[in-house]
Amino acid sequence: MLTPGLEFGDNGHLYVEGCDTIALAQKYGTPLYVMNENLIRRNCKRYTSFISENFNKGSFPCYASKALSCLEIYRIMAEEKMGVDVVSGGELYTALKAEFPAERIFFHGNNKTYDELKMAVECGVGRIIVDNLTELHNLQKIATEAHKYVKIGLRIKPGIEAHTHDYIRTGQIDSKFGFSIENGEAMQAVKEALLCENLELCQLHCHIGSQIFDTQPFCDATKVMLEFFVTIHKETGLWIKELNLGGGLGASYTDTDSPLEIEEYLTPVAKTLKDVCDEFRIPEPEFHIEPGRSIVGEAGTTLYTLGNVKEIKGIRTYISVDGGMSDNIRYALYKAEYTVLNASKSQGETIDNATLAGKCCESGDLIQENISIVNPEVGDIIAVLTTGAYNYSMASNYNRILRPAMVMVKDGRSRVVIQRESYEDLLNNDI
Ligand SMILES: *Cc1c(COP(=O)(O)O)cnc(C)c1O
Repeated sequence: MLTPGLEFGDNGHLYVEGCDTIALAQKYGTPLYVMNENLIRRNCKRYTSFISENFNKGSFPCYASKALSCLEIYRIMAEEKMGVDVVSGGELYTALKAEFPAERIFFHGNNKTYDELKMAVECGVGRIIVDNLTELHNLQKIATEAHKYVKIGLRIKPGIEAHTHDYIRTGQIDSKFGFSIENGEAMQAVKEALLCENLELCQLHCHIGSQIFDTQPFCDATKVMLEFFVTIHKETGLWIKELNLGGGLGASYTDTDSPLEIEEYLTPVAKTLKDVCDEFRIPEPEFHIEPGRSIVGEAGTTLYTLGNVKEIKGIRTYISVDGGMSDNIRYALYKAEYTVLNASKSQGETIDNATLAGKCCESGDLIQENISIVNPEVGDIIAVLTTGAYNYSMASNYNRILRPAMVMVKDGRSRVVIQRESYEDLLNNDI
């Protein structure tokens, strides 16, 4: 399986959006994150146009920037008329430095610090999604002191948890995020928010999981949330104006993954929203979602240089590359699956039972096990697909390995958007 924009050329090399990956590796070095800019922009356009055509005025998608955060991605999101969500002062700082409009930034997190909240209030982010009562009260204090009115949302646990093929409807209250509807916390938070004079409660938010392949859990969450809108109105007289369904649409990592198209996922959600609003005769809220992985995941490909091949007869063959858990920790962290290709050759004898290993001093530093790959030889360029989300953003300097460069490719051209770290960079904060 190749992700969109990838193909093998007549020379046997893997191409991304018309760029020969072997030439990219030569020009920029490896490991290298290669991002397909056309695909990122196309995904954004699909979200923005579907939402503007099918939901209430004022609705827009926010890119969940924890998936990949750097100056250039915020610039692209601004050009594509997306909102963004951020989960830390660092992401907020980066977005502001990229001149992303503050009023289209949503600020999330289950333990925002006092300083982070102050920073968010001072720069005027669009919404702060409040996770707990301590935060609510801190925020009221900060807003009063700054003489500002702050628009907030509340993070709600709707009791639906979804992941890939399964989802459960339970009173899932055992999560560090947000307020549960079931045990009355959520209603209490609404009432306390209404007492905060400098805070305006506009939005209810939920995020039910990640790498989800089914639209039903999103429809169910829509229903549960809207029912809660009705309960809030009954008890307080307030109509909540905005529904935020969070992120979670999956990306394709291997042949067995078949995520829904963006429109397939949102069409039933739009219908559910309309039906439930009709049924309860409630005003249709503005709609927001926060896709991360489904925007940047398949747009990323990581290139490595193969350094050695270690065949353990009758057992497996280790092929070791010049990166590892320092640039992609997802296999080490939760056995995430990936498609691995020899980018240097499309044809040749395939070996089975290979393990793609990193260079970190850690036996768990593997990128993928049990793979088939075309004749891996020292010096070959190895490509790992679908590395656009949660790879660079989770990268580290473990073993003092330098974080790779990132290039954007578009219509056969490439440009660096994140420089490769240097040895001097490693000493930046050492004294
Ligand atoms: C992680 C997260 C997202 C993005 O999830 P994806 O699965 O990458 O789409 C969106 N919103 C919130 C609050 C999140 O925590």
